[in-house]
Amino acid sequence: MILDGRAVAQKVLAEVREGVARLRAAGVAPTLAVVLVGDDPPSKIYVGNKKKAAESVGIASQDHLHPGGLERAALLDLLRRLNADPAVHGILLQLPLPKGLDEDEAVEAIAPGKDADGLHPTNLGRLLAGAPAVVPCTPAGCLEILDHYGAPLVGAEAVVVGRSRLVGKPLAQLLLARHATVTMCHTRTRDLAAHLRRADVVCVAAGRAGVVTGDMLKPGAWVVDVGINRLDTGKVVGDVDFASVSRVAHAVTPVPGGVGPMTIAMLMRNTLRAAERRAPGR
Ligand code: NAP
Repeated sequence: MILDGRAVAQKVLAEVREGVARLRAAGVAPTLAVVLVGDDPPSKIYVGNKKKAAESVGIASQDHLHPGGLERAALLDLLRRLNADPAVHGILLQLPLPKGLDEDEAVEAIAPGKDADGLHPTNLGRLLAGAPAVVPCTPAGCLEILDHYGAPLVGAEAVVVGRSRLVGKPLAQLLLARHATVTMCHTRTRDLAAHLRRADVVCVAAGRAGVVTGDMLKPGAWVVDVGINRLDTGKVVGDVDFASVSRVAHAVTPVPGGVGPMTIAMLMRNTLRAAERRAPGR
């Protein structure tokens, strides 16, 4: 079975659109401030897609685009102003930042309640503490797609390949909170295939094309492929070898059309929730 991220994202976006309409009827215009520093081409594409999604659900986006770069002090000042602006509900700081800017410092400068990406240490800490507030978009999208198709998680053996702060670590916490038995693998893992062959659920966020092949999987596994890799041919592929994996797995997300659209949909949901938290009467 193909896990259709575009279809599930449309369902999430439809729910967000209804929530936005309710808030607008109450006089609140949910607004996402989009901060892009530098002129990294993929970042420009991601930001364009996020703005399009916002428009499609009625979330206003406020552009703060600095293709020529920004000094550290100016970036921190911008983020402070956005934190203080009551018309701004969510802040999207597109990563990576250009060399010379400290990403940790910039992310920490965002007010946790406006942190639409859920990457502020307060939000990551709350996830670890079992009291999630804003959950990072990509891991949240992975869970949403598994839930939509009814993947059994309680007691399941789950393997997460990748331990980044952006994807692997929060995803492992989400799976753990759903009572999966979670193993995290990374570049120092001695025998990746041995772990994968036990797994009912496999989530791969390694950033390496073809790191997981069908022969490494238990037949019937659920596979979520987070990777986005552009080959020399220009083709975009995930981290799993789709042809061999789809022959062995029960279900797999395609790339493109899997986790990517879910990430954007969850960003919209996070922005709506931030606006709801600040709406009068809530
Ligand atoms: P990252 O920060 O580079 O982390 C990659 C992780 O994978 C690291 O923990 C690394 O281990 C591990 N890894 C790399 N090669 C491996 C291998 N051969 N075997 C086992 N583990 C391996 O990347 P990221 O930010 O998490 O992103 C991962 C991928 O997801 C990228 O392709 C990225 O473009 C994509 N992504 C997609 C979306 C989306 O919306 N679909 C969103 C975010 C990211 P070490 O820690 O040992 O180095």
